[in-house]
Formats: sequence, C-alpha cells, structure tokens
Amino acid sequence: MKKNTMLLLSILFSFFTLSSVQQAKSTDHNYYWMKITAHDKFERSVIANLGVAIEIVKDDYVIAYGNDRELEKLKSMGKLVAASNLALEPLDFPTSDAAYHNYTELVEAMQTLAKQNPDLVQMTSIAKTIEGHDMWALRITSDFAHADQKPAAIYMGGHHAREHLSVEMPLMLAQYLIAQYRANNPRIVGLVNSRDIHIIPTVNPDGMEYDIKDTSYKMWRKNRARNSDGTYGVDLNRNYGFQWGTGGSSTDTESEVYMGPKAFSEVESTAIKNYIEAHVNITTLLSFHSFSKLILYPWGHKYDGIENEKAKAVHETMAKKMATWNDYEPGQASGLYIASGDTTDWAFGVHQIISFTFELDPANSGFGGGGFYPGAGVIQPVFDKNIEPMLYLLEYADNPYRVLNIGIGPIKP
Ligand SMILES: [Zn+2]
Repeated sequence: MKKNTMLLLSILFSFFTLSSVQQAKSTDHNYYWMKITAHDKFERSVIANLGVAIEIVKDDYVIAYGNDRELEKLKSMGKLVAASNLALEPLDFPTSDAAYHNYTELVEAMQTLAKQNPDLVQMTSIAKTIEGHDMWALRITSDFAHADQKPAAIYMGGHHAREHLSVEMPLMLAQYLIAQYRANNPRIVGLVNSRDIHIIPTVNPDGMEYDIKDTSYKMWRKNRARNSDGTYGVDLNRNYGFQWGTGGSSTDTESEVYMGPKAFSEVESTAIKNYIEAHVNITTLLSFHSFSKLILYPWGHKYDGIENEKAKAVHETMAKKMATWNDYEPGQASGLYIASGDTTDWAFGVHQIISFTFELDPANSGFGGGGFYPGAGVIQPVFDKNIEPMLYLLEYADNPYRVLNIGIGPIKP
C-alpha cells in the first residue's frame, strides 16, 4: 500500500468512527465498509466465516463489506475498528464511466466481433439466467473443425456484479486477439491457429445489470436468485461444488458470501461447470475479479497447499512469472483467508485445470474513485499490464508443466 493511500484510508476511518455511522441505504439491511482487526490468515478466516466479504488484507487489519448484523457481531467480538456506510460518489455508468460495457453493450460488442469474423469467432449462449439474460461465450480459433483436439484455455469475468473491470478484461482479450490476428502479428496468428480459446466476459449478467440500475452503483456482489426467504442473491464464487460450504462462506441468505442452498444450485455456476466439462481440452483457467492486485491459486478452502508437488509448483511458478508483468502479489488463496466453493478450487480439484484468480486494480478500497468503481481511465492500462499473463496461460495451455523445465511430463498430474 502506498503511503498516501494508507493516509487516506486512515483519515477516512478515523473520521467515520463507529459513532458517526449513519443510515445511507434504504434496503432491509444497511451495508458497511468495515475496518476489522486481524493479524493472520487464521484470524481473517474467523472474520470470513461471519459472512462479510473481505476485500483488502493488510498485516494487522482487513477491510470488508457486510451488513449491519455482521457489524454488530464484529463489534461484540471487539474486532471492529471503524465502519462507514458512506455512499460512494454518485458515479454514473452511462456518462463518466461510459467506457464500461453494460450488458446490452457487452452483447453488442461480442456480436460485432462474431459477425465480422465468422472464420475466427463463435458466439454461443451457454444458459439463460432467471432474469432472462443469455450467458454468452466466445470461442476463438482458426480451425473449429479440429478445435477439440487443440490445447484450450478459458477466461472469465464478472462472477461478482460490482466488479465491472473484470468484465472488460476478457472482452478486450477477444478483441485484441482478433485485431492482432488480422494485423498478422505472428505470435497471435500462431496462438489462434494452434489453440482453442474460450472467453466468458460475464458469468453474472443479472447482477451486473442490477448493480448499475438507475445509473447509480449499488455495490451488489451476488447474482439475483430469489432465495427461499425472499431475499436476493447467491455468491457465485462460493457456489462451486468442490469442498463447498467448508469455510469462508455463509448459510445466511443475506450474507455477501451466501453459498446457496447446495453446491451448483445456481444457473450461472452450473453453466460454467457444464461448459468446462464439455471442453475437456481446457488446461488453464483465469477468472477475473476485482480488486486488490493479487494473483491467487488453489487451495482456497484449506491452508494446506496442493498435494501434488508438481501441480503446486506449476501454480507457484506461473503466478510468479505473471506477477513480473502485472506487478500483482502472487500467493495461495487461503493465505488471505479461507474461502470455499470458488471457481479455481473446483476447476483444479475436480478437473486438474491449472487455475488462477486475478484480483485486478486498484490496490485499495475507494471512497471516490477506487475500489470496485475505479473509473474508466484504468481500463486500458489494466488491460495492458494483464495481456502478457493472459497470453502466457494460452501459450502454455499445451502443457503447463513445461514451466517446470523438467522435460515434457503429463499434461495433468
Ligand atoms: Zn470477486
């Protein structure tokens, strides 16, 4: 954390002390940014288990987002340092953040790419959400007839509704690949010819649309499933079916990290499962989230590392290499805190796919211009520093174990 942002945070949190918490939301529950004392992954996991969504991890505290019930619990535990429900600046998606794609614009951009490049791009709906949005996937290769026999990588964004920057990255990857292919960039021509590339810019179209409804951000994370008690939303990145519900997620339907009634209870997570299982040539996976500037890999559901030493080393080696390009901090997911039911634990745990989560820029939470709503100005620079990691995962999709330089081994352990 840079000194000036540290200062900003401390000023904000000293100003918005517990006594100055005000009502700012008109929903059933009020939601807060909370600064919470925690000194290691064990203490952080206790906090994660309360049901808040931890967004920033520092040496002696975390910044998390959660509801008033969770705030009261933390207060009674003596762990709450400060809280603020200061509404974010009334940012306006259609004007100041117009560069971000809403669902309609996203679909149009994907359709344009597919229509103009039928020889390179296929666009498929992989499911319809409960609010009737199609979940669209792009498949990019120059040889669809033999794509199944080529090494494949998958890129996803938008599991969490308010993480709009995570939707832009996969879309821009698709546009970049096509533009560079047409420009005869030899490296990209080689990749598009030799690889089977899968891109799903948003896994959560319902949530994404809800978050920008009425042109004011709602800090929404989950999907828009109607829970049995009438509340809304399941955390899609706690709903995958590997060691589901074993920590860092909540059974409370109002929690930010509500795991759902069962593993793969949701249309969206099930669609990703089915899609990945229909493409058994996928060997590398990247799921974009925001924010914190991190490169994370399994396990998330437990503190132990991946048992297979080679598979563990591949994740570690690739994460470190990718960090040289984007300058994010690499590490095992549970080094932050325990979280179960996420995409990468499932993809590696069940299918041995080498899997990463990127927490994109910025590093810090924002009151006015940071956090989940960093503004349109970051889109291009964040893409520019993440294109090499994306291409790297594609280049090594033929056999990620090549990064270990131990001769050509098995593609999967
Ligand atoms: Zn996320």
